[in-house]
Amino acid sequence: MNAARLDALDPLAAFRDRFHIPRHDGEDCIYLCGNSLGLQPKSAARYVEEELEAWRELGVEGHFGGRRPWKDYGDHFAAPLAQLTGARESEVVCMNSLTVNLHLLMASFFRPRAGRYKLLIERSAFPSDRYAAVSQLRFHGLDPEDALIEVGPAPGEAHIRTEELVAAIRAAGDSLALALLPGVQYLSGEAFDIGALTEEAHAVGALAGWDLAHAIGNVPLNLHDANADFAAWCSYKYLNGGPGTVAGAFVHARYEDDPSLNRLAGWWGHDKATRFRMDPDFVPIPGAEGWQLSNPPVIAMAPLLASLELFAAAGPSRLHEKSLALTVLLEDCLDEQLGSAVEIITPREPARRGAQLSLRLRAGPVAGREAFARLGAAGIVCDWREPDVIRVAPVPLYNRYSDVERFVAALADALR
Ligand SMILES: *Cc1c(COP(=O)(O)O)cnc(C)c1O
Repeated sequence: MNAARLDALDPLAAFRDRFHIPRHDGEDCIYLCGNSLGLQPKSAARYVEEELEAWRELGVEGHFGGRRPWKDYGDHFAAPLAQLTGARESEVVCMNSLTVNLHLLMASFFRPRAGRYKLLIERSAFPSDRYAAVSQLRFHGLDPEDALIEVGPAPGEAHIRTEELVAAIRAAGDSLALALLPGVQYLSGEAFDIGALTEEAHAVGALAGWDLAHAIGNVPLNLHDANADFAAWCSYKYLNGGPGTVAGAFVHARYEDDPSLNRLAGWWGHDKATRFRMDPDFVPIPGAEGWQLSNPPVIAMAPLLASLELFAAAGPSRLHEKSLALTVLLEDCLDEQLGSAVEIITPREPARRGAQLSLRLRAGPVAGREAFARLGAAGIVCDWREPDVIRVAPVPLYNRYSDVERFVAALADALR
């Protein structure tokens, strides 16, 4: 079936009109960068304006009155985030930014001790995650040369195999304290089996934490049943919450009332019923909310609330179905038209990836960068990762099948 026909039959087609699509030369861009910054829902401005209005008209009373009292603003995120992550509502919270959450959660869940002190990440991890891991090791007086395990793809391979991660976890054995892994790897687009890898970490007595920056809003997640110990994500990629908006975190229910957990505390994590009594001693809210430090920045969170309503309206299964179809179309068009010029480094099995395909241009870094610049000049928005990778992500909420077709035709042109 051709792309125009697929668009005509797409039950989610109308959702595109609920987003602002950036323009180029008087036309909609072909925007394939939702893995990096999701587009703005048209309803975002209204959600922000409602909070500005509450502030304007109610002042401090906005904490307790108005349409969505600020003291309870975080409550609106529990159900949609639980839905997207496959968690209980008490296991998720909207707070801080991603790297901050990784540090806060490692403060609780990375507790190295004699003999068991190693931290395992993937090689070519997103720099912030590696910086966080290395600085956590140093914070505990450990030498990253010894205590950081980085698992990379086998020589000549573009992505890691689950078996390689399993082998590395087993080899680390008793010395492993924590595996910190991505739900979907940002560069290769590879999706990992959270349940299987968590089980492997647990089998050697270690914990498993997950960075879901490229997974949430992209692939189905089932954090509770997968037994993940903790997870964190940002909300400006597939979640369309706006640049730098408030991130999220998951803490498994088995830690809900665990008194042995150390945590860095703030007043917003304190028992809600007594928070405003301003008692000197910290009594955490059971569940993920107990990790909150500060009262929520509602104006920054408002666009995310607008976007989460669109996810709920579109429905997770319809979104996932369309995502699979968009990415398979992208893969097929690339294979047919550019098979010899482009190597797809993302796994070929749909279950091992999300929306994104990462393309290595066989023309090499110099010609590749030129081709990428030509795509930009033609109104195609995707991204370039040094030295020679283009990442393309058709997202089901606002991309069309014809976007995929036009991208591949434009790339063929750009490489000519
Ligand atoms: C996008 C991304 C980040 C960004 O971190 P911030 O704290 O939101 O700036 C970190 N890690 C991964 C894996 C990412 O994909």
